[in-house]
Amino acid sequence: MPKNVDLGFYNGDYPAWGLEKEFESFEVESRYFPSKVGGAPAWLDLQNLPLSTKLTCPHCSQQLVFLLQVYAPGSGARAFHRTIFVFICSNGSCWNKKSETVEDGSKVGLPVLVLRSQLSRENRFYPAEPPEERPGWRTDIVPQKFGTLCPVCGCRGDKSCGRCRQVSYCSQSHQKLDWKKGHKQECTENGKYGGPHTRVGFPEGLLEIEEEPEKDEKQNDIEDYKHLIDPTMEVEEAISEGVSEEEWNQVESGQTNDKASEKFNSRVRRAPQQIIRYQRSGEPLLCTFTVQLPQIPPCSKCGGQRSFEFQVMPQILCVLGLGLELQEAVDWGSIYIYTCNKDCDIEGYVEEFAAVLDFDKTNLPVMPQPEA
Ligand SMILES: [Zn+2]
Ligand SMILES: [Zn+2]
Ligand SMILES: [Zn+2]
Ligand SMILES: [Zn+2]
Repeated sequence: MPKNVDLGFYNGDYPAWGLEKEFESFEVESRYFPSKVGGAPAWLDLQNLPLSTKLTCPHCSQQLVFLLQVYAPGSGARAFHRTIFVFICSNGSCWNKKSETVEDGSKVGLPVLVLRSQLSRENRFYPAEPPEERPGWRTDIVPQKFGTLCPVCGCRGDKSCGRCRQVSYCSQSHQKLDWKKGHKQECTENGKYGGPHTRVGFPEGLLEIEEEPEKDEKQNDIEDYKHLIDPTMEVEEAISEGVSEEEWNQVESGQTNDKASEKFNSRVRRAPQQIIRYQRSGEPLLCTFTVQLPQIPPCSKCGGQRSFEFQVMPQILCVLGLGLELQEAVDWGSIYIYTCNKDCDIEGYVEEFAAVLDFDKTNLPVMPQPEA
């Protein structure tokens, strides 16, 4: 039996939900094995970072942006440390055509990349004992010890600046950004690099994991929708039963035909600010029944089966300012992530599988309201 569902919440500044950053900067660094959102990735394997060509969008070829990482040790010794990383394209138009089929009938990949990295307890990067919670502890445990990082995004930087040779970037586009924002002024043969002059990345936060709360008796579940549809029920009455006016309007306009989104919404209502749902080998919470999840391909490394591990909820789009109101916004109902059952042996980072489902257009998601 899979365990209960764990939920991930954003610990960072997000005034619209009344959230304030409650962590020290050192806590998001590799040596503390964080689960985190935005900013730069806290690489687990510090040496074999993914190539920048791996981190490009299959649609627009731009560098993908780090979305989040979940630290989720496996059960066996070889995955004593284990982190799943998710990168996305931040270009809204790539999300509109994400399931595009090109002329030869092949499908263009999603603008999402999932990577798994893992290490045994005894490894060449980290001590076998847990980290000490103080800022000065082992500040030498950084990927810069093993190679150069792009100052703009924190990913592998293999392309050094041809003139000064003081800095390396992941790609020409990040080099250009940094150049325009300040490197231009300092780039001389004997110059010193004083950047980063700009950074790409979503607003940084820790990902706090908590068990999903039990169903609150006062809240509505699928059964309760039956009397929501009862035309004799007044708006005030519905609201006093815990239904928001917005939902009521959806009910009134007859938009309750997708049972999956009803279930999705009633489940989300237990903790509306959840940004991931984690249940390794559990069941994904579907946001629609009109489209099905694709066949899950076997592990690219060992050929073994993959299982559901977690899903990225649409609420994170608000936190990261990915503007749902824009016409070409980055958008999803959920990103479903499937990983190798066996935590098979790997070196560095291997790709795992992601599927994306959208809401049925007539059933818009329930979004958390600002805290009173
Ligand atoms: Zn793209
Ligand atoms: Zn970069
Ligand atoms: Zn330079
Ligand atoms: Zn495998």
